[in-house]
Amino acid sequence: MAQILVIDTGVILRSKQLFWNRNARFVTVPGVLEEVIDQRNRIFLEQLLTQRSLEVISPTDSNVSFIRKEARDHLGEAKNLSKIDIDLVSLALELKKEGKDVLICTCDLSVQNLANHLSLEFWGEKKIKKRIEWIFRCRGCGKTYSNKELEELNLGECCVCGSELRRIPKKILNT
Ligand SMILES: [Zn+2]
Repeated sequence: MAQILVIDTGVILRSKQLFWNRNARFVTVPGVLEEVIDQRNRIFLEQLLTQRSLEVISPTDSNVSFIRKEARDHLGEAKNLSKIDIDLVSLALELKKEGKDVLICTCDLSVQNLANHLSLEFWGEKKIKKRIEWIFRCRGCGKTYSNKELEELNLGECCVCGSELRRIPKKILNT
């Protein structure tokens, strides 16, 4: 069974050598196509699409909601992940559920962190060494908030003293 590589924009821009692997299947999500705007990379991308070397697949809504919730509730990464990031991880999970051998190719450390949390395999030219769970601490009074609390309360600042909140790692786990 050919391994499926789920690739992000960074791979198209900077890691073109990945496409030399003829034993793999390459997939991505629609948003990635819109992120490649410069002419040289655009030509490269269009060649891939014309040769059917790259398939574009949209993840299902239910998977996207699940992934969004995981990112928010368990990692505090929601604010660092774009719609495209969430879509890529959702698509990878979907393919894995279908029994496929999937590898997410991304240099985005937040995407890697999320993939790692979901036990999805990932590759990047830079790769995270640790899994990080984030919380937010007030610069003034030191009160801490989980990402979930911040989203539920719709807070941008400390509700006790009004100071700015800073993101800090809560737990760092070995991968
Ligand atoms: Zn405070």
